[in-house]
Amino acid sequence: MNLHEYQAREILARHGIPLPGGAVATTPEEARAIAARLGGPVVVKAQVHAGGRGKAGGVKLARDASEAAEHAARILGMTIKGLTVRQVLVAPAADIASESYVGIIVDRASQRPVLMVSGAGGIDIEEVAARTPDRIHRLAVDPRYGLLPHQALGLALHLYRDVGQARAAADIMRKLYAAVYAVGASLAEINPLATTPDGQVVALDAKVVIDDNELERHPEIAALRDATAEAPSEVAAREAGLTFIKLEGSVGCCVNGAGLAMATMDLVKYYGGEPANFLDIGGSSNPRKVVDALRIITADPTVRAILFNIFGGITRCDDVANGIVEATRQLRLTVPLVIRLTGTNEELAVRILTEAGFSALTDMDEAVKQAVAQAGA
Ligand code: GDP
Ligand code: MN
Repeated sequence: MNLHEYQAREILARHGIPLPGGAVATTPEEARAIAARLGGPVVVKAQVHAGGRGKAGGVKLARDASEAAEHAARILGMTIKGLTVRQVLVAPAADIASESYVGIIVDRASQRPVLMVSGAGGIDIEEVAARTPDRIHRLAVDPRYGLLPHQALGLALHLYRDVGQARAAADIMRKLYAAVYAVGASLAEINPLATTPDGQVVALDAKVVIDDNELERHPEIAALRDATAEAPSEVAAREAGLTFIKLEGSVGCCVNGAGLAMATMDLVKYYGGEPANFLDIGGSSNPRKVVDALRIITADPTVRAILFNIFGGITRCDDVANGIVEATRQLRLTVPLVIRLTGTNEELAVRILTEAGFSALTDMDEAVKQAVAQAGA
């Protein structure tokens, strides 16, 4: 689950990380009032679940309250990476002398939380990783001991020559590590971690992603969900009990089982296509889920072809077939549908689909090739 920057800031501030305080506005007038209360220059920042807001024009410095209101008027309603801005954060602006990057991710390869730091802050870390990978320093943390003071200081000395600043940054890293564990985050980033001309080290941006599996034991964090800021298809899927992730491609995928869904996406890419989504309808045989899944996929205008890939085990192919027939009765399909089913009750499923005017394949490669071709046509 993604949080907004202002929510991430609250979490980090609660853990003692120095961050200029601020407040959220939904109208230019509110932004003006917050800026007036803060006094002095402020920064007005779009609150959307996307990075690169600065580049997109969603982060603006204002000298005073009326300039803050003007920026808010321009930023509110703007779309950044397809997301509409409904809130802006108004915070005291800092003078920046330098910008670094500090982040923690849960790393599958080392099976540990990994702390990453870079002196090349302010820009996307993916860009730094691609262009100047030697400017990123990493440390896999042993969760039995946590991030030890000398380890944090060792990393911080890659960022700052000044020992006082390095100590301050090391302290921030340890607090960030504590925050990650406290809220069940899979990622936490401060970019930029800035120095001011008078030598302070402050966090000027915060990003926190919560591991969905942690939400049950952190109801106070789960309550931070802003469904209005999420992709509508993801909200609909969550409500329908489907595991769904929206992607950028044009082949809509409807698959049972997360492993098969991953394999299907791999094969779509292998044959030159791009998946429009990850969707796992789960192991049950509920035709209702098939209807929900198709409704979500067909509502996405970027989908050019739909691929069903079902491996029947506990999932019965005839149930899925009935779901497809039912769904296509309810929904108007405007894109081609390629169906591959194999396993439990496969013959029955093929009969149901054939009678309803569909054809069904049993070979996965063949089905994926067809779906990619249709999406490209
Ligand atoms: P992002 O582009 O979505 O990561 O948004 P950021 O919050 O990181 O802001 C982008 C850039 O705006 C930062 O890298 C800074 O250069 C600049 N910026 C953000 N806050 C301040 C501030 O308080 N003062 C100054 N001078 N620049 C800021
Ligand atoms: Mn940033």
